Amino acid sequence: METKHHCLIDHYERRLNYLRISITDRCNLRCRYCMPPEGLEKLRHEDILTYEEILRLTRIAVGLGVDKIRLTGGEPLVRKDFPLLLPELMAISGLKDVSITTNGIYLTEHLENIQSAGVKRINISLDSLRRDRYRQITGFDGFDRVREAIVQAQEMGFHPIKINMVVLSGINDDEVTDFAQLSVRYPFHVRFIEYMPSGLLLHNEPLRHVSNTVVRERLEAMEPLIRLPRKATDGPTVRYRFEGAKGEIGFISPLTHHFCQVCNRLRLTAKGHLRPCLLSDQELDLKGPMRAGATDRDLEKIFGQAADHKPRAHHLNSEDEISLSGRMSAIGG
Ligand code: SAM
Repeated sequence: METKHHCLIDHYERRLNYLRISITDRCNLRCRYCMPPEGLEKLRHEDILTYEEILRLTRIAVGLGVDKIRLTGGEPLVRKDFPLLLPELMAISGLKDVSITTNGIYLTEHLENIQSAGVKRINISLDSLRRDRYRQITGFDGFDRVREAIVQAQEMGFHPIKINMVVLSGINDDEVTDFAQLSVRYPFHVRFIEYMPSGLLLHNEPLRHVSNTVVRERLEAMEPLIRLPRKATDGPTVRYRFEGAKGEIGFISPLTHHFCQVCNRLRLTAKGHLRPCLLSDQELDLKGPMRAGATDRDLEKIFGQAADHKPRAHHLNSEDEISLSGRMSAIGG
């Protein structure tokens, strides 16, 4: 058993207390960097974890010291039993922080349930502030819905609302200053994410990332950024704000600044595999043993093995392409 004092600690003394759960591989958008227009082959329904299974695995993870959960996908809000799953997840004692990453298309319909379940923090993916361009990037004319969801979430008191932008060269990188301005006027946390090249030509076009160093320079040309002190909960995000701004800016730079030394994550994929590192294709099957009658103790051991297999660092650099054979939509990004 590779756990110490009921905590998952890996060989590099990183305490793994954060589990990202992809609750479905299905998505209602076709973002150019994530899915081809026709979608990807879907997992069969019976191959996706049931919500009871997700709850059981979450309880086991919490028993091993996980106190932070993020629900992701695919698009988590397309999962039909999402409204049932969330309150039950929130009721697991020992969980300090549950948040959701969504594209926001169905968010307004869910906000009340999400709030009454006790979730305060939401991450919304938004890659353009221009309606036409949003449609070109995502394949869906949904910008107004996402904007409406963001406004409503803010009025309802969700905080922080993080707006995640994947910056793509020649596609939306001319909008980085507009996104940054949002953090001045509103209490939003705007985060710039470096695109990780998947190697798949999803929409017949090569996509290129923009280094966050370049993004930061463009923002600094507008106004100096103030570096914010690192908090334990920051994970890979390096945070700044503009003087007098209501919100803040974050940079997530998997390519240009490895943050593996502070990585505290495990990922549970939609098909019930534990993935120790986003950028390494190794996964450990939990669903198979669970459906074959494994005890909680057996499953705890598999969590321990995942901690054991967590690589010290990924070796991706800005010239590489990731294979992501498990694919972002099933792994959860
Ligand atoms: N559907 C939800 C959403 O849109 O936020 C959750 C799943 S999505 C896979 C999670 C995040 O991964 C999104 O912010 C998305 O932009 C990001 N993502 C997907 N493919 C990516 C890539 N190749 N490089 C960087 N980020 C990526």
